[in-house]
Amino acid sequence: MNKTSKEPSCAMCERPVEVDYKPFCSKRCADQDLGKWFNGSYAIAGEPADQAESNPYSDKNAE
Ligand SMILES: [Zn+2]
Repeated sequence: MNKTSKEPSCAMCERPVEVDYKPFCSKRCADQDLGKWFNGSYAIAGEPADQAESNPYSDKNAE
């Protein structure tokens, strides 16, 4: 059997996870991930609508 206990690692920096900040090692990493998600959803919310309006049919013609 493997004696090494499989510790979860921080999703941001892969350091050992702190229970309080699961699945991250610290508040800093948790905040970084939050910021990433916030920026991501912000971009997704803005872009598709813009693209859909610029060429509504060309995408279907390509297929
Ligand atoms: Zn971390």
